[in-house]
Amino acid sequence: MVPSGNLPIMRIMLLGTPGSGKGTQAARLSTQLRIPAVSTGEIFRAERDRGSDLGRRATAYLDHGHLVPDDIVIEVVRRRLSQPDTAAGFVLDGFPRSVPQAVALDEILDTAGTPLDAVLDLTVDRDELVRRLSARGRGDDTQETVKRRLEEYADKTLPLIDFYRAQGKLATLDATGTVDEVTARAIAALAPD
Ligand code: AMP
Repeated sequence: MVPSGNLPIMRIMLLGTPGSGKGTQAARLSTQLRIPAVSTGEIFRAERDRGSDLGRRATAYLDHGHLVPDDIVIEVVRRRLSQPDTAAGFVLDGFPRSVPQAVALDEILDTAGTPLDAVLDLTVDRDELVRRLSARGRGDDTQETVKRRLEEYADKTLPLIDFYRAQGKLATLDATGTVDEVTARAIAALAPD
């Protein structure tokens, strides 16, 4: 299903713990809204796989479930958002993940006069989360790194819920159920009243 009219909201950010389905939904929204998905995790994995300088600097953090330092991530996103395809909007998946990253993003977007329109917080209960994370089998999904990534989320990313709520941009989304159901909820949350 592709919406017939143009949705007015085009600059979207997905928030949610590892395993909440951000990557899957970012890809869905990218197709349906015809905007690029910008996934910092994917950028880092691709750079690591091709052995670039950036990839080498990020590898240890990725492999151990730590967040990559803010200055590195911010630079990556600054560059990505300066590419012309993002002029039509974008869906951010996995960025920002800390308050300094969120402040930097606001600065980048405010300077360009293109602020974020909406932040969707994908919520799933803990049992479902553990089930999903143990099922997907990604290289950095060992028990130890999953635990650390959940801790990093609680520690550094969770404050973003209040950050974006204070901006009036936060929509909380039930991310359980089928992929289609969650996409439909996301589209409904983005639709104008
Ligand atoms: P993801 O695919 O979003 O789960 O990201 C995989 C890994 O990439 C994370 O565990 C971090 O090591 C790194 N990463 C991705 N996005 C960020 C970010 N915004 N800030 C810091 N590290 C990140």
